[in-house]
Amino acid sequence: MMINSPVQQIKERLSIEEIVSSYIKLEKAGANFKARCPFHNEKTPSFFVSPDRASYYCFGCGAKGDIFSFIEEFEGLDFKGALKILAERAGIPLVQYSKEKEGEKEKLYRAMEEATKFFEKNLAENKKILEYLKSRGLEEKTIGDFKIGFSLLDWRTLFEYLKSKGFSDKEIELAGLVKKTEKGFYDRFRGRIMFPISDSSGRIIAFSGRIFEDDGKSAKYLNSPDTPIFSKSAVLYGLDKAKESIRKNNFSILVEGQMDLILSHQAGFRNTVATSGTLTQIGQALMLLPGPAKLLFLSVWM
Ligand SMILES: [Zn+2]
Repeated sequence: MMINSPVQQIKERLSIEEIVSSYIKLEKAGANFKARCPFHNEKTPSFFVSPDRASYYCFGCGAKGDIFSFIEEFEGLDFKGALKILAERAGIPLVQYSKEKEGEKEKLYRAMEEATKFFEKNLAENKKILEYLKSRGLEEKTIGDFKIGFSLLDWRTLFEYLKSKGFSDKEIELAGLVKKTEKGFYDRFRGRIMFPISDSSGRIIAFSGRIFEDDGKSAKYLNSPDTPIFSKSAVLYGLDKAKESIRKNNFSILVEGQMDLILSHQAGFRNTVATSGTLTQIGQALMLLPGPAKLLFLSVWM
């Protein structure tokens, strides 16, 4: 007997109307449902959902597809990202892809995951920095939830750790974790409190590192460069943790920077997201918000 693929199993468990209606309001229209299209601007509904065909179609802009393409489009994810979200929702465990079959992007996601674990371990072994974070109001649980870590003030500790885990020089460089010089590779983040940045499905795609001891010449905050899995303009920090609450509350709180984001979540304001960058980048990032209403609240943590 053939065992159904995870994709088939997910499609059997989750209906199109269930998925779409968790993002937008659907109205019954005969055997179908209709709504104002989430993918183009319109006043009268031309977006139709067909439970029979397990698909959606928009007569206005031509958007169409199944639950997977809907999540990809709506959340701004690739197929694997949508698969992760839907598998969790359907309660279907995904078997880890074997390393041989792993594509470039998957390798980079895994490198970021390993780097995160490495930074977390450094922090756990560094009482002084832990105490500092607690003095700034962070609880231990929050530090764990947000996977905050520390990059040692050293040249190649992360590089060597990732090499020992089987990553190539090129992969580590592509992930934006090291810089290349004539003398070889050195860690991009050194002596910094590390905040992992996730996409909306929760995969770690970048880091923001805040300097721990200011030497007067390094930038206070250092972010990952654009990589095959990270584009600065397309990220709202904390969206993976905030999206349920944003949908429930139908508004979101926008803050600037990782610390404000984390402290807001810790205080119970789970519909908080953060952004950074230029005004244009912020504008683009806001397009990713699931709720129509927005409350802006800007502040700066120094
Ligand atoms: Zn449309």
